[in-house]
Amino acid sequence: MDINALAVEPSSKELLIAGGEVAGPDGIRRADIRILGEFIAEVAPGLRPGRNARVIDASDRLILPGGIDPHTHLTPPFVDDLTSGSAAALVGGITTLGTFSYPASSGDERESLVESLVRMEEMVHREAIADIFLHPVLWPPSSASSGQLEAIRAAGQLSIKFFMLRRDFGATVSDLLGVMDAARDLGMVVLIHCEDDALLRLAAARLQAEGKSSLRYYAESRPVVSEVSATQQAVAFCEATGAPTYVVHLSSARALRACRNPDTRGLPLFVETRPIYLHLTEERYANVDGPLYVGQPPLRGPDDLEALWDGLTDGSIDVLATDHAPWTREQKLDPALDIENLRPGVNNLQVMLPMYFSEGVRMGRITVERFVETTSTNPARIFGLFPRKGVIQEGAYADVAVWDPSLKKTIRGSDMYSKAGFSIYEGWEVTGWPVLTIRRGEIVFEDEELKGVPGSGKLLRRDPWKPM
Ligand SMILES: [Zn+2]
Repeated sequence: MDINALAVEPSSKELLIAGGEVAGPDGIRRADIRILGEFIAEVAPGLRPGRNARVIDASDRLILPGGIDPHTHLTPPFVDDLTSGSAAALVGGITTLGTFSYPASSGDERESLVESLVRMEEMVHREAIADIFLHPVLWPPSSASSGQLEAIRAAGQLSIKFFMLRRDFGATVSDLLGVMDAARDLGMVVLIHCEDDALLRLAAARLQAEGKSSLRYYAESRPVVSEVSATQQAVAFCEATGAPTYVVHLSSARALRACRNPDTRGLPLFVETRPIYLHLTEERYANVDGPLYVGQPPLRGPDDLEALWDGLTDGSIDVLATDHAPWTREQKLDPALDIENLRPGVNNLQVMLPMYFSEGVRMGRITVERFVETTSTNPARIFGLFPRKGVIQEGAYADVAVWDPSLKKTIRGSDMYSKAGFSIYEGWEVTGWPVLTIRRGEIVFEDEELKGVPGSGKLLRRDPWKPM
């Protein structure tokens, strides 16, 4: 708790959010929120504003903790940076972003994990408006000496990501298990992209032999069995090492069953899914604009879509994250692309929460409590930010989104803050939108206008992972 900061700063600017319904993972209650400086000072009914306080009338409004999206791509080749990505997030009710630091290479020179982290930290200080935390990307696993892992821990960025779809993945498993073993002792979360490269290659080779290399066949080129096999292996790594393991963008019912069954109970295993799998299914690839929907893994069938909604409802899926990975429409529809030469990913930061609210909460599929848990509280817990973030309570950072649960808007590509400049959800009618966003006590979005400035976002230091 940073409660002492309140005591030493009695003259901090006061904001009072009055008359709203405050939602958390444990319920909804009518309460006012007093914000002093960067922090929440009080949450209670009937608070009286101090002198010079700004009062925000929140009658008929729902007050949610700022969203935390732990999975975004905001560096080249993707078209957003930390500024445009932050803008899209804040307008969409998200105040905190997890993003990746990729070691850059030129010729034979390759940055170390720590060098890439330092470079990204500088970028955060210059560009970010949302608060940021970083996941160093690990490749090859032998590059992570224990000294490197300890330096990452000391920098307060306690996670690491690797991709099972790398061509030489099989040859590196022993090194990787060594890293996971160390990660457990250091309290670092291991993020894993679960698709089995050998099975992907088999499927692609068959399609190529039949002359089916266009993106019409994208779903067949990355079959569910590839995700299932890799997910089973990730679960085994988790069990063998005890490292906190986070499966990113899980897309299918079968992969979810691999994570959640009697044998996996008690493992420090976390599951994330992303919006495209909740709203869209694989027949999109048959359309002329099918390549717009290409992500890894691909869209799946209607039974998978239902299973993921069920998983978010019943707690078997922990987090909904965007995997925001934006390209322009022209880049996505480039005729040179095929099943082996891809631009995977979509722009999703601005509309993830409103669509989840509209299709989930308004349609009666999930409760507001589960909405908050899967988009704020759980990511805060898993990534070492709780209770500074992920909850509206005394002493927490004042990260708050004021929602109008009845506001109807149609998604328009032209309204996007992402430099993608379009949305795959163009024309969708969505009910329930944030109307005001506060990040660490500062109003950063209000009256349909972005107010936060680049450089005001903060690089967050995280606590080591501990059992929940
Ligand atoms: Zn990703």
